Amino acid sequence: MFRKILIANRGEIACRVIATARRMGISTVAVYSEADQNALHVGKADEAWPIGPAPARQSYLSVDAILDAARRSGAEAIHPGYGFLSENAEFAAACEAAGLVFIGPPAAAIRAMGSKAESKMLMERSGVPLVPGYHGAAQDLPVLRAAAERIGFPVLVKASAGGGGKGMRVVERLEELAAALDGARREALASFGDGRLLIEKYLQRPRHIEIQVFADQRGETVSLFERDCSIQRRHQKVIEEAPAPGMDPARRQAMGGAAIAAARAVGYVGAGTVEFIAEGDKFYFMEMNTRLQVEHPVTEMVTGLDLVEWQLRVAAGEPLPLPPGGLRLRGHAIEARIYAEQPERDFQPSTGQLSHLRQPREVPGRVRVDTGVREGDAITPHYDPMIAKLVVWGEDRAAAVRQLTSALAAYQVVGVQTNLRLLAGIAAHPAFAAAELDTGFIARHAAALLPPDAVPGIAVWAAAALALLRDQRIALAAQSADGGASPWSVPDGWRLNAAAAQELVFHHGDGPAMLVKAWPLAEAAFRLDLPGGTVTAALRQNAAENRLLLDGVSRRLELLRQGDAVTVILDGQIHRLTWIDPLAPPRKLAPAQGQLRAPIPGRVTRLLVQAGDRVARHAPLLVMEAMKTELTLRAPAAGLVETIRHGVDELVEEGTELIRLRPDDELP
Ligand code: ADP
Ligand code: ADP
Ligand code: MG
Repeated sequence: MFRKILIANRGEIACRVIATARRMGISTVAVYSEADQNALHVGKADEAWPIGPAPARQSYLSVDAILDAARRSGAEAIHPGYGFLSENAEFAAACEAAGLVFIGPPAAAIRAMGSKAESKMLMERSGVPLVPGYHGAAQDLPVLRAAAERIGFPVLVKASAGGGGKGMRVVERLEELAAALDGARREALASFGDGRLLIEKYLQRPRHIEIQVFADQRGETVSLFERDCSIQRRHQKVIEEAPAPGMDPARRQAMGGAAIAAARAVGYVGAGTVEFIAEGDKFYFMEMNTRLQVEHPVTEMVTGLDLVEWQLRVAAGEPLPLPPGGLRLRGHAIEARIYAEQPERDFQPSTGQLSHLRQPREVPGRVRVDTGVREGDAITPHYDPMIAKLVVWGEDRAAAVRQLTSALAAYQVVGVQTNLRLLAGIAAHPAFAAAELDTGFIARHAAALLPPDAVPGIAVWAAAALALLRDQRIALAAQSADGGASPWSVPDGWRLNAAAAQELVFHHGDGPAMLVKAWPLAEAAFRLDLPGGTVTAALRQNAAENRLLLDGVSRRLELLRQGDAVTVILDGQIHRLTWIDPLAPPRKLAPAQGQLRAPIPGRVTRLLVQAGDRVARHAPLLVMEAMKTELTLRAPAAGLVETIRHGVDELVEEGTELIRLRPDDELP
């Protein structure tokens, strides 16, 4: 076994690999970019080596910098995690050339499976079923058009080198094909440096079912059962589970057999996943991911195995550590990926500092949280916006869904937007309980899964008012500590004869202003007059938690204040309120209609107009890339392009003005 390994990754997967290595007595070397100096994975490893600036291209994707860190630290092997260099055949080969063990399959197997088109040809020859489609070498329009017509619309255009849902276009009609091919090719070239495309029949209500395979260096290959990853958004997994609901032993055996055949066809070694798309009782090969998968923990939960341990043993030349009684499936596991993103805005990533973070309590074998961040860390535009994976286990699926529901309710994230409400919505949906799963689940149930923000009740307004009143008292206590305390200066409304009220005004979203009148009572309690009624309210703090006392009823509560933003977390709901400070200068006016601003931080990738151009309303003006998404910004109104403020390749912060437009209705 290795004495020391380097983990060429970051975030939760780096932490995950370090945990197993530590348990096995293997020392660990982390690598980090300038953005990650204080990241969790850096502190967890025995050593950590800097590998360059924040952009992944210059750090986590830099083969030279990583090999250099491995050599200098004396690591014997490199674990690539997932993403980054994990499916890069040149990197695997370079490790070998440098005398380092690549903890993954041989470079040739990565290469063979790296192209969706070539791997499909290979699978065709091995008798693995394929979705009707075209994956030939010719890429000219007439050939692709004829193929699409033969397959029949709707079709799915995919980047052969694709991954992470990128470079994919659903095409409903022949007239849309040429434009979709152009778009997909452009995205594929930009993301993977390879513009080759393939076309598949677009299945209407498929399930994504994948098989975890494992092979050792002697050629023994096994299947560790399946995972159902049908709950997706933008062709990317959000919830994964094992086993797949409704899977019968015969079908499990057929799919497991096909996956093993796929792995054997390329001389596979280590952990791999063969992804199938299934409809009715049919299943078809989609692709093989030649690495550890994001969702491997659900397989660990139902098999009791540690897949990273298996990877390390196999890479060190040991046989598959098959358990004595054989492989067994126990109970049901579900993983939910918690992302910093805005489901309401087409799942755009959200960045910022995690000013408050509470995770559900981990229970060995039942509730597991794999994360790479802690409170105070930032989600930056440089990397994947995944915050954590919440993995739960139950004796059966219903028990696992219950665990998921309660663990999600205990999750609190403030500072970035998250998909937590969406996940809770899925966990609570009757169709999910009934295991009516297919890849269109989220889109189809979107309205029910994302109900409008709960309207804050009296308790929420009261809590916000108490937060302000508490802070004022603290500030005053500090002031009076260094000078002239006087009962007249305490703004708790205390007067000689009649108590006076303090007035506090709050907003929730675009809702109307809410006035709270506070009358001080004894023991830091207040009588609060709200439009909905009058209550007696106080905050109480004990060792571990804040509590809100409302007319004698006590409830657990979290309160956060940052300037005029007050966040109240009550009964599992996060309410963001704004305090209207009577002394603050008036707010800036809403941005002019002609200003086009970056909705999220990112990089400008293409300018579609020039200064002086006339554009129609909704005309595409600029394309930016932000984290894993390409975003087209459109004209808010018809008008004249006055100024272009940022050029191609420039990095822009959220809110940066990109283009100034003079709307037609303002022209003289
Ligand atoms: P899977 O097919 O395993 O479910 P996905 O395609 O959803 O995986 O996710 C793999 C992606 O995760 C990579 O393409 C990459 O963008 C992203 N990624 C890479 N490294 C990390 C990391 N350390 N933490 C979170 N995400 C990462
Ligand atoms: P990636 O490399 O981005 O993971 P995949 O080929 O694995 O690409 O496909 C990603 C997702 O896209 C699948 O999980 C599925 O939801 C959807 N998808 C892929 N192929 C088809 C198809 N032929 N019909 C319908 N949906 C598909
Ligand atoms: Mg895939």
